[in-house]
Amino acid sequence: MPDTSGGGAPAPLWLPDWLDQSRRALWRPYTQMKTAPPPLPVVSARGVRLTLADGRELIDGVSSWWTACHGYCHPHIEAAVREQLSKLPHVMLGGLVHEPAARLATRLARLLPGDLDHVFFSDSGSVAVEVAMKMAVQFWLNGGVSGRTRFVSFRGGYHGDTAATMSVCDPEEGMHALLRGYLPEQVIADLPTDGERRTAFSALLAAHAHEVAAVIVEPLVQGAGGMRMHDAETLRFIARACAETGVLLIFDEVMTGFGRTGSLFACEEAGVVPDIITLSKALTGGTLPLAATVARSPIFERFWADDAQAALMHGPTFMGNPLACAAANASLDLFETEPRLSQVAAIERHLKGGLEPCRTLLGVVDVRVKGAIGAVQLDRAGEGDWLRPHFLERGVWVRPFGDVVYLMPPFVIDEDDLAALTKAVVEVVGLWSRERAS
Ligand SMILES: *Cc1c(COP(=O)(O)O)cnc(C)c1O
Repeated sequence: MPDTSGGGAPAPLWLPDWLDQSRRALWRPYTQMKTAPPPLPVVSARGVRLTLADGRELIDGVSSWWTACHGYCHPHIEAAVREQLSKLPHVMLGGLVHEPAARLATRLARLLPGDLDHVFFSDSGSVAVEVAMKMAVQFWLNGGVSGRTRFVSFRGGYHGDTAATMSVCDPEEGMHALLRGYLPEQVIADLPTDGERRTAFSALLAAHAHEVAAVIVEPLVQGAGGMRMHDAETLRFIARACAETGVLLIFDEVMTGFGRTGSLFACEEAGVVPDIITLSKALTGGTLPLAATVARSPIFERFWADDAQAALMHGPTFMGNPLACAAANASLDLFETEPRLSQVAAIERHLKGGLEPCRTLLGVVDVRVKGAIGAVQLDRAGEGDWLRPHFLERGVWVRPFGDVVYLMPPFVIDEDDLAALTKAVVEVVGLWSRERAS
């Protein structure tokens, strides 16, 4: 381990050949590649630590975009995937089936509340949301109702990067202006978090109900839109409004699913059973790409008919990939055999105390915690490049976005490593705050 006690400029990174050679070949996500610092070359990961090519170790405060809930290389998942790889790495799900997918669907149906019992697999969160939207539109068509093809979504929301899912993202942070004309136009509302917004939401929904297939929301925490949090009552209000107007309700639990907010699914805390739920990020414990769109029985029944045209017209090539399903089954085993939800509760307590000192810093607007999510909101966006080297210097991987510095560690993180993460956030945001004042 290098000296991470802080002070001075960060040590220059040693960069392997393949990194420089791929500088233009490997197109990076959401990055102005010309001006951004080079990405950090990771050669291995174990537990909560990433190992870089130069031997340095970083404590991961991001869980690889919120997926690695059991940490990296958990032996139980590793063994399950190895065994599956030696038997059946992949087979199409059209006309064929295999036990890992069948078992996983049955287990998810059992775990999810109410009659959320019908599982459609795909390979990314965006596609799971695309499928949910297509399912909602076709639900109405199959029932002989036409014209219900729009969606109500919320400011601050994020649902993915494909065309339909971009259209239900926050209109400012999303690509609505850039891609005008390409994206369908949806009905965007404020989350009904208080009386005034509730009245406005009811009016909006009543006005558009005839053309709306479903309302879509990230329950309890809007993730990529800035870690914005709302309470269970807000979700119950939305659910009642949907029930009253006959509009379907989709909970996008791609980020919140599998314990991140404190209950296994955020809908459980709200006591709401949505018509359709989407899952992905932590589904395989952060190992392989997999996603699920799960529908309640009344939705499924509209597709279960003598009419071939009523079938759901979707089918990704790698749908229900056996390796990914084996990983997901092993991940569910770990939720049964290891104390993940109490670990999340302990992380929540720690984050609340550990991030609190940020609250008084000049330039910090808010500090908020829900489950294993801690967010420090700054008063301006675009500070990531300034903050990053200071985090690296402290041996932690923290990647702020927009005006938010956040932590979403693996659930298996111990007290000391968690303390290192919160201490680094307090110190680095403190440095930023003093620099900003001077
Ligand atoms: C990440 C995310 C998505 C998109 O998932 P991808 O796997 O990146 O396509 C959709 N919805 C929510 C709530 C997410 O956090």
